[in-house]
Amino acid sequence: MEALAERDLTEPMDELEAGEAAVELDDKEPQEVLAWAIERFGRRLGICSSFQAEGCALADMAWRIDPQVRIFTIDTGRQPQETHDLIDAFRDRYGLRVEVFTPDTAVVEGMVTRHGNNLFYRDINLRLLCCQVRKVLPLRRALVNFDAWVTGLRRDQWATRSNIRKVEIDHDHGAIVKFAPLADWTETEVWDYIRANDVPYNALYDRGYRSIGCAPCTRPVAEGDDARAGRWWWETGAPKECGMHCAIETGGFEHELAALLGGHQASGTNGADSNGGTAQNRIEPDNAATARDG
Ligand code: SF4
Repeated sequence: MEALAERDLTEPMDELEAGEAAVELDDKEPQEVLAWAIERFGRRLGICSSFQAEGCALADMAWRIDPQVRIFTIDTGRQPQETHDLIDAFRDRYGLRVEVFTPDTAVVEGMVTRHGNNLFYRDINLRLLCCQVRKVLPLRRALVNFDAWVTGLRRDQWATRSNIRKVEIDHDHGAIVKFAPLADWTETEVWDYIRANDVPYNALYDRGYRSIGCAPCTRPVAEGDDARAGRWWWETGAPKECGMHCAIETGGFEHELAALLGGHQASGTNGADSNGGTAQNRIEPDNAATARDG
């Protein structure tokens, strides 16, 4: 494992190999998928974690396979203190070096100068603009450092994810490889793993939260509510989607984003179209309300 893990170059994976791997790994446990990914990509693989329950379980699993595995996170600048405390707990518990990617300072300055720090409460397009600036663009920049990444996506989270594969080519990010080892796990299975292995988790889960993002955009949910009802709770008929896993196109925020970026294309990287998305996974207004992410 060590010799493979130390390598810094990997053979690109094409659609054929990804399809074969997806079939081979579809009924495998998350640990087997992670072991396969680590063996295949070594140091060019990154575990992307926002340190929600799924990301905590994956980080623990990956560390048990390879203590040197690379784990990265996007620090939006608006996360709750509890999330920062949790990341510190992971560093202490596992000796992990969590790689942190942040938004471009000048772009954030431009955004909050024009629209204020709490722009997301005023308009759906301003909320999507904030998610683009604080989440989507930093993720794109982070992924330039990897040939493959691992996400905590699960098929039962909502309808638009019901068909995700455990291995696929990510055409939104330069055709690198995207793994979803937890695709066929339920929320209960994730928590069973966390408790059985004493994995650190966000303290907000013990205060009624079931999905945790940025502090001003997340609140606890009532018993029986959808797990993501506390995300962007003031919006109606809008996508519970930030755009990290599924590009959004509304025709509203893109021009503003381009202006903040100095008139350049909003996508900024490797193979995505001008909105950073592909026809395959773009979320447009008609189906946006069913999509949930972030
Ligand atoms: Fe901005 Fe809220 Fe999106 Fe965080 S979740 S990036 S604060 S709009």
